[in-house]
Amino acid sequence: MFSDIEVKAEERVGIVTHDGDVVELINVSNDRVKGFSVSGEDLMTWFASGQAKSSWHTHDGKSANLSADDYQGFLNWPEMDHYIISHSAIHRYYTVNGAVLEDISSRQVR
Ligand SMILES: [Zn+2]
Repeated sequence: MFSDIEVKAEERVGIVTHDGDVVELINVSNDRVKGFSVSGEDLMTWFASGQAKSSWHTHDGKSANLSADDYQGFLNWPEMDHYIISHSAIHRYYTVNGAVLEDISSRQVR
């Protein structure tokens, strides 16, 4: 699903629609090397509307493990899956009873 997504120094972010389309959004963070933010407009269009089934973002120079900010951010959208794409792996996270868990069985090596 993310084979076209090249990991770069600045984090990339996007969503996957319910039809499986991978859409890249603009990372509006002030420090795009350290993290990502999505504009209010994109949050309304894709996240709050329920149009996005999953989110994704990239990690350069680090693993596909969660950062503390990722954990807090994913909790805001518990009905969605969240993918972290690194150079070497793709991890999927989901929320159960207010806790973010990794679906280890779906771990992919790139
Ligand atoms: Zn992250």
